[in-house]
Parts: sequence; C-alpha cells; structure tokens
Amino acid sequence: MATLRLFASVRQAAGVAAATVEGATVGDVLAAAVARFGPAFEEQLQACRIWRNGVPAEASDPVGPDDEVAALPPVSGGAGAAGRLAVLSMHTSPLLQPGAGDSGGMNVYVRELSAALAHRRTECSVYVRRFSAEWPPEICVEPGLRVVHIPAGPPGVPKEALAGTLDAFTEGVLADIRRTGGVDAIHAHYWLSGVAGHRIKHALDRPLVTTFHTLARVKESPGEAETTGRARAEEEVVACSDVVCANGPTEAEQLVRLYGAPADRVEIVAPGVEHALFSPGDPEGARAALDLGPEPVLLFVGRVQPLKGLELAVRTLAALGDRYGAAKLLVVGGPSGQQGRAELARVRRLTAAGGLEGRVRFVAPQPHHRLATYYRAADVVLVPSRSESFGLVALEAAACGTPVVAAEVGGLKALVRHGRTGFLVADRDPRSWAQRVEEILEDRLTAAAMALEAAAVARGHSWDATAELLAGCYRRLQQRRLVECLA
Ligand code: UDP
Repeated sequence: MATLRLFASVRQAAGVAAATVEGATVGDVLAAAVARFGPAFEEQLQACRIWRNGVPAEASDPVGPDDEVAALPPVSGGAGAAGRLAVLSMHTSPLLQPGAGDSGGMNVYVRELSAALAHRRTECSVYVRRFSAEWPPEICVEPGLRVVHIPAGPPGVPKEALAGTLDAFTEGVLADIRRTGGVDAIHAHYWLSGVAGHRIKHALDRPLVTTFHTLARVKESPGEAETTGRARAEEEVVACSDVVCANGPTEAEQLVRLYGAPADRVEIVAPGVEHALFSPGDPEGARAALDLGPEPVLLFVGRVQPLKGLELAVRTLAALGDRYGAAKLLVVGGPSGQQGRAELARVRRLTAAGGLEGRVRFVAPQPHHRLATYYRAADVVLVPSRSESFGLVALEAAACGTPVVAAEVGGLKALVRHGRTGFLVADRDPRSWAQRVEEILEDRLTAAAMALEAAAVARGHSWDATAELLAGCYRRLQQRRLVECLA
C-alpha cells in the first residue's frame, strides 16, 4: 500500500490527484492503478517519469505504507504548445548540407517548415533513420524542434534497400512517440516515410499527412521493379492519407490522375523561401566576392544526377553565340549517388571535349547563406530538370532577383512566369536554351524588369505562410473522422 500522486495529463486521465493503492513494489502500484483508472490513464502513464519519495524509481523498487509514488508527464511544450507533430524523414536528415548525395530540396523543406511550425508553437519531432553511427540519439535543434535518430538497420544501407528497415524504423518511432506523450498528427515526407507513417497512423489512431516530394509514376523508368513496387506503396499511402500535400497544381493533378487521390483530400501547400538570406543584393559586390569579372555568368545549383539535366546546362553554354565566348557557367553542388558520379564524370568529359574547361567552374555544395552570393552574381539561373515537383532553386533565384531559364516541367511551370520572371523552355535543344539566355543577356531592361517581378513573386512565398497553412490543416484534422484504410 502506498500513496500514488498524479500530475497534469495523467491526473486528468485518472480523475484524481492522489490515491492509496495496493502493491509491494512500484510496478505493482502502477499495475493496480491501471486496473482502477483504465486505458486512457495507461496511455498517459507510459510517457511518465516515475518517482518514489522524490527520486526516480524502478518498477522493482519496494514500497511501504509511508511511501509516495509519483507519475510525472514529460515537461514538453510547457505553457501553450499549440500541438505536437511527428515529422517522418526516414531516409535523409534535415540537418545535412543540401546539394549532394540524397540531400536536396526535401531536406530544406523539412528543416525550414519544422522550424517555422515550432515558431508557431507546434512542437516538432523529426524522425530520421540513424544512418551514421556517430550521431547521438537525438539533437535539440531549437525550442520546439528536435531531430530523433532511430536505429533501424546498419548505418550504410543503400537507398534501394531501405524498405527492409521500415519495420524497425516504425517500431522505434512509435516507442519514442509513446515515451514522450503522444502526438496530434503525423506528417510523412517521401514514400518510405509514408509507409511508416501509414502504420503509425493505425497504431496511434492519429491523422496522417503526406508529402511525397517525388512520385515514382512521374519520374521515368515505368516498368522497372523498383518503380513498380514503390508506385504500389505510394498508392496505398495516398489511399489512407487524411491529407496529401501537393507542391503545386501540376503535382495535385498527377496525384489524382496517376494515384487516384480523392481531389478533396489533396491540398496545395507551396514551399517557402528564407527571405532573410535570399534577397536581391549588389551583383557587382557578389561577383567581386566570387572572383568573377564582367563576363556573363550562368548558374546551375543542385545535386548532380541525370534528372537535373546538368549536361544541358553545359551544352547551353557551348551553344551561346560568339559574342558570349567569355561567358561562364558555375555549377554549385555535388553528385547524388552512383548515377550522379557517372553524370558528373560525363559532364566533365563533355566540358573538356568542348574546350570549355576555363569557362565551367565546379563548386562544392554551399550553405544557404553563401549560396545567396552565387544567385546575386549570376545573370541567369538555369534549371534544366527533366522532372521537378517544385524547384526550390528557381524560387531562391527569384527571391534574389535573378531571371531563370527553366524546363517547362512540373512545379516549374507555375513558379516561372514565362517572359516575366524568366523563360520556360519546352524542348531540350541547347539552341533553344541558348536563345533564351541571350535574350536576357542582350536586353538589360528586360532583365531588370524580370528581376523586379521575380522578387515580387517570391515575396508571396514564405515558410511562415506554409507553416500557417499546415498548422490549420493539422488542427482541422483533429475534428475530422480519420480516413479508413481500404488496403
Ligand atoms: N542547395 C544548397 N547548396 C548547394 C546546392 C543546393 O543548399 O550547394 C539547396 C538549394 O538551395 C535548394 C535545394 O538544395 O534549397 C534543392 O532543392 P530543389 O527543389 O531545387 O531540388 P531537389 O534537390 O529537391 O531535387
């Protein structure tokens, strides 16, 4: 027999602040309390720290009639947390430098959005597979934002084999969520996290929001085993997501047409841009900082992989007319995987074969605060992607007031206003691209007008606005019945 004292949410679940409970050990007392107060109490209790007489206790610690056992829920959120969110980013960490390997727009998206949500008092736990043995179990990034590394499979599992670690990842996330007092919603990024999120939704009975970032049926290689299995998994996740986020109208249409997503569950959630870093500046100063002369400068930013079309950027440089014989192309970023390394080697060979070595400069991935200098120094940013769900690079360039020449695909179609903030090019003929670049280089007035409009368009995007939209979405989902699984 001991006195059990209850606090905050666990007190609410029990309906009393204190009770006398039978039991010879701390574990017995808690088991008797669960039997008395029921499953809601048990759920809250799982997240609690347990003390005996004011110090942390083990279940096996003995108790007598004068002992006091206390259950204390985690002190998270303190006064006024607006909600708690589990953000799943299984295959890559928001803390990695984007622009090489598997780290790109999604990493930026998860990092910036979670921070913006945390600033609006939505507590975010971002769950990442622990793919480096050196990583600590968790990192508190800032108040309200922590990144949790879940052990699931050995560190070096290749991306193609990651599906095999999903069970362990899911279990690890569930254990952490239970330990820390539950969540209001789950937001999964990319299909692997979507599969984990789907299972977690059912285990916890909480709404699932999904953002795919790329979709197998939109990327190429239909019929490939990886594509087929992934597409099927994506379809199941879409069917049971309470909300599927699309980066823009093109992706929304693709989700409905290619995956049968019910249109009323697809929300367009456009990414933002950090205006404190990406803003118009002094191009001359930027050029001087990068040791560039008065020659025209084209810029490519991003991971090097076939989908990103770097080769077309180099061919565009080569196709410029003689009067632009001194023009330079800066390539900021590194290779993504084996395909990326092969692509980079091919592009380097192409550069050498075309006698362009002195005109193409390869630059290692840069953090955002340095990247802004590259955007400001450039006359034109090239985005020659074969597919692009949004295209953060195009938005960052616009925010810096730099015209963009982009492929007419995916999210770029909505982002680049043809003839007003840059040009969209429908084909992949370097001559068409070079022609558009020359239009911008030749007509300084058009370029200046484009810069003004690009910066104005970019001002319509901010991470805070994205977070506001999503916070409203998570809130509404608390009142709705969860979508039921048909799979
Ligand atoms: N990026 C970066 N440093 C680099 C190259 C790229 O921080 O050296 C960032 C870039 O600023 C952008 C992201 O990586 O925020 C790329 O996003 P995008 O949507 O353009 O392409 P994705 O990687 O998603 O295919």
